[in-house]
Amino acid sequence: MQVWKFGGTSVGKPERMHSIRNLITEDSTRKIVVLSALSGTTNALISIGESLKANNDAEATQKIEELYAHYETFIKELYKTPAGYAEGKAIIDKEFSFIRSLVSIKPFSVKQEKEIVAEGELLSTQMFEAYLREEGINAVLLPALDFMLIDADNEPVLKFTEEKLSSILSQLEDKQVFITQGFICRNPRGEVDNLKRGGSDYTASLIGGAIVAEEVQIWTDIDGMHNNDPRIVKKTFPIRELTFEEAAELAYFGAKILHPSTITPAKLKGVPVRLKNTMEPSAYGTLIADKTSDREIKAIAAKDNLTAIYIHSTRMLNAYGFLRRVFEVFEKYKTPVDMITTSEVSVSVTIDSDEHLEEIMAELRQFADLEECDKDQTIVCIVGNFSADKEGIALKVLDAMKNIPIRMISYGASEHNISLLIHGKHKAEALNALNERCFLYEDAMKSIFSAP
Ligand code: ASP
Ligand code: MG
Repeated sequence: MQVWKFGGTSVGKPERMHSIRNLITEDSTRKIVVLSALSGTTNALISIGESLKANNDAEATQKIEELYAHYETFIKELYKTPAGYAEGKAIIDKEFSFIRSLVSIKPFSVKQEKEIVAEGELLSTQMFEAYLREEGINAVLLPALDFMLIDADNEPVLKFTEEKLSSILSQLEDKQVFITQGFICRNPRGEVDNLKRGGSDYTASLIGGAIVAEEVQIWTDIDGMHNNDPRIVKKTFPIRELTFEEAAELAYFGAKILHPSTITPAKLKGVPVRLKNTMEPSAYGTLIADKTSDREIKAIAAKDNLTAIYIHSTRMLNAYGFLRRVFEVFEKYKTPVDMITTSEVSVSVTIDSDEHLEEIMAELRQFADLEECDKDQTIVCIVGNFSADKEGIALKVLDAMKNIPIRMISYGASEHNISLLIHGKHKAEALNALNERCFLYEDAMKSIFSAP
């Protein structure tokens, strides 16, 4: 069994829903299809909630009717028969009458706010299921609120999903296609809640982990993760294979396509995650799995707007406890450190939030000498399979960077990452130089030497 997730833009237009229908039925694997809300809907619902919170009922009502009008137009194109349209109309009328009913509830609480934002996924999944039925395809709608649960710390309870889903699915063994809502869940009070913005990927990964799916497919409108930032570098290409660790590093360091924590449940159960493109379904996409056979250097990513802090111990050489004191200061101000390098008497770190910079500097000065910090720094992160016995990787990276001043280098913390800190103004040059040296040049060399 597989889990296929489609995001807001993939369901955001009637014709996109039509193409998803084709994708789902052309392939015969049994699958659970996870859908987001139509693009723009979650934002609109949040904004309706804000008007209601501000007691601005007239404004809320106006926004509700605008959104309703959007859905009315949408279903006219989605369905092809009068009967199909009537079904769609009944669905949107039912959900919107619930949304309208919230206008009169006073005071408007967090509970209602969560109920409003859940409507996006409730609408998209019911509309899609009715459309499949119109097309003669029997899909089963599984209400996510029956099996998705978060605990008091807002963490998903995978065990609950495992148990519930296995009992639900065991009664539906003859069914092929299931549809469910991304993003929404219940909380320990039994109320409607959600997995935070963009949470549908997380839903897919949780379901994939829970049923130990063959594969989780995340369908978007780009062809997988790219080896470099396509907005800055011309010749980029989709990466065919990544390990979970590499994908997490890339996601953290700027590849926006996937939130780093979303694939944790899949990783936990060894379920491969494939990123696919709805616009180009036959393309391979990017496969994220335990092991890969691909090249050593797989991708380059960058994280901007960092501040570098340079700290020197005022005490003698060989002093211990210095690092602990340094990190306690960052801990106190809840400021994550992205990169760190050390020498015998100094330590340099980068942080991505300047919110408490002044306080942090003042406290560090009590036991250390500080240089002036550098703002507008960028971490360039080279991700791949750099196991300890491989040689020559750092050489390639540094060769590419020969004309760019480097402030910090971090290598060896994991087998998947080399990080370089440079001034933000050199970022485009660095990404392009690395692309030339680590991908284009390598590939050209390979094709010369492997030619017959
Ligand atoms: N609809 C939700 C959002 O826009 C969840 C998702 O799309 O993943 O945040
Ligand atoms: Mg979305």
